Amino acid sequence: MAEHESLEFGKADFVLLDSVSLEEFMANLKLRFEKGRIYTYIGEVVVSVNPYRAMNIYGRDTIEQYKGRELYERPPHLFAIADAAYKAMKRRNKDTCIVISGESGAGKTEASKYIMQYIAAITNPGQRAEVERVKNMLLKSNCVLEAFGNAKTNRNDNSSRFGKYMDINFDFKGDPIGGHINNYLLEKVGGGSESLLRSLHVSKDPTAYSYIKVGGQVKVGYHRSISALTLSVADAMKVIGFTPDEIQTVYKVLATILHLGNLTFGVDGDTTLIENSKVVAVIGVLLATKEENVGKALLYRTVATGRDVIDKQHTTQEASYGRDALAKAMYERMFCWIVGRINDVIEVKNYDAKVHGKNTVIGVLDIYGFEIFQNNSFEQFCINYCNEKLQQLFIQLVLRQEQEEYQREGIPWKHIDYFNNQIIVDLVELQHKGIFSVLDEACMTVGKVTDEVFLQGLNSKLAKHAHYTSRKLSPTDKSLEFDRDFRIRHYAGDVVYSVVGFIDKNKDTLFQDFKRLLYNSSNPVLKMMWPEGKLSITEVTKRPLTAATLFKNSMIALVENLACKEPYYVRCIKPNDVKSPLLFEYERCRHQVEYLGLLENVRVRRAGFANRQEYPRFLQRYKMISEFTWPNHDLPSDKEAVKRLVQGCGFEHDVAYGKTKVFVRTPRTLFCLEEQRDEMV
Ligand code: ADP
Ligand code: MG
Repeated sequence: MAEHESLEFGKADFVLLDSVSLEEFMANLKLRFEKGRIYTYIGEVVVSVNPYRAMNIYGRDTIEQYKGRELYERPPHLFAIADAAYKAMKRRNKDTCIVISGESGAGKTEASKYIMQYIAAITNPGQRAEVERVKNMLLKSNCVLEAFGNAKTNRNDNSSRFGKYMDINFDFKGDPIGGHINNYLLEKVGGGSESLLRSLHVSKDPTAYSYIKVGGQVKVGYHRSISALTLSVADAMKVIGFTPDEIQTVYKVLATILHLGNLTFGVDGDTTLIENSKVVAVIGVLLATKEENVGKALLYRTVATGRDVIDKQHTTQEASYGRDALAKAMYERMFCWIVGRINDVIEVKNYDAKVHGKNTVIGVLDIYGFEIFQNNSFEQFCINYCNEKLQQLFIQLVLRQEQEEYQREGIPWKHIDYFNNQIIVDLVELQHKGIFSVLDEACMTVGKVTDEVFLQGLNSKLAKHAHYTSRKLSPTDKSLEFDRDFRIRHYAGDVVYSVVGFIDKNKDTLFQDFKRLLYNSSNPVLKMMWPEGKLSITEVTKRPLTAATLFKNSMIALVENLACKEPYYVRCIKPNDVKSPLLFEYERCRHQVEYLGLLENVRVRRAGFANRQEYPRFLQRYKMISEFTWPNHDLPSDKEAVKRLVQGCGFEHDVAYGKTKVFVRTPRTLFCLEEQRDEMV
């Protein structure tokens, strides 16, 4: 008996549970985790529990076991999903995508790496040098992005502070020919490797830098692992094709960010001044610009009043704000520039579909999971909104389309209730009424805008919304501790957000003076990162889009992109908060199972059919296994022919006939058909 059929390890597919209840689901999940079986299916969805230990299941021999096999032939594994996505793409010329979701530390990034490795391993049997080069680039670019995009959070030592979507393009042979990366960066302050920082006049004592101080007051509200940039990253950058000057500039930017964190401002009479001017000199050297220009940009703001241009002095508070904004913006700009450079190299060029056939795509999305911290701010709000969007996509694609199709095809179907989270998506993103709109409106108010103004806006617009409340609206609610708190009832549970910082983070303004400073650097790489610094103060500039609007737009584009692909899902679960390979914290896991909608998923799969194909397509694929249909049939319709074929194979009980499609209940039947087909062709 195959391992996945043995009861000792629980049910390899939740669809096979005796009854669908949360208790049974959890018992199976726990049993499998404890037996070292970290993957379990729900139909074609992989549920993964982070093992927090090295597993000997990703080697060459395992890859060989999964290569070209059907999902149900082998124990559940990421490789099986990767293979299914790859096969669907190759057989049917369809773009596919693999959506990996789960909370921070649940194992998403690891999963995406194994999937990439698998695809790299099974492609290019001809060992074409160009394809090998492309594969190497794709893997290396992953490594570079990890280094710059990751940071220490209190939940995960190596948590991606961004979402990453990577397209891999394939030629008609199914070999990778290029790719494209989209990044969704949220928090942005960086560190550099010690040895490199040393060579850049930077002390290696991380406590010397307030931006990365561990445990201390962190000015940008965030710290990042100082060892993020190791030499292997520099090597990877070199392989991708970054020039030595470019790599040096990256380190200089990182060093500048660290030095900025040490700058302090004071006053002397009416004058704001920099207390440690030596730091300014170092920054001047790093940025290849005059020391006095750095000082001026930090202390003054050039403003146009009518025809005059005057220098307006910052208060110490404004200067500190500007300094932190500069540090953040420099990191973000550098990161985007790195992604852009990588895309230049990996993007498919000179592909002529007429000559080479259709270029197809597998997308891999590794994106931050739902987050609930002690203190939840704008970043968590964006992350959780993103997860609402992904859940909505999942609902639309898997649950709703499934139900609608059965109706359309006239297949008897028991309606399944599920929570449709569209109402929460609307709460956040709806024009004029949604939270993002209220926030943008507050930001555009003339005069002093405070976070409280924003909160008032929310309270007046959303007082009646079932998924919104605040301290003001529910004064006796104990979970709303402070006046600044509001609460969203997410599909995954309640989250209390503090409005503090929303306005600033949304405006995300960087004084023009800094842009000009960086544009006027004599380092051409740095200059390239800041093209808008070219504009002089009197040139009219459009109000830049807010962070919320940019984020919303990028999420809508992402979901549109995913929606036109055939999706595969990996749902990652974090078994405990202490990184233990042994501990299955029941409550923690139950919560995740709930908000990932896994039970609903099982219910739909059980009521449903694993596979459906239009009659002519089905016939085309399997007609050789029946004497009635090979090479052609003389029955009145393809539907009749399919019926005859299915009867002949003895699968009657497992099949339903719709108006235009045949529905196959269990994957095993399909697998048998495939096997018989293989024997014939
Ligand atoms: P996420 O991207 O969801 O935040 P990661 O993929 O970075 O989480 O995983 C966090 C940590 O958990 C990893 O650094 C690794 O130590 C461990 N881990 C995750 N998946 C696996 C796995 N399949 N095998 C072994 N360890 C894993
Ligand atoms: Mg990650």
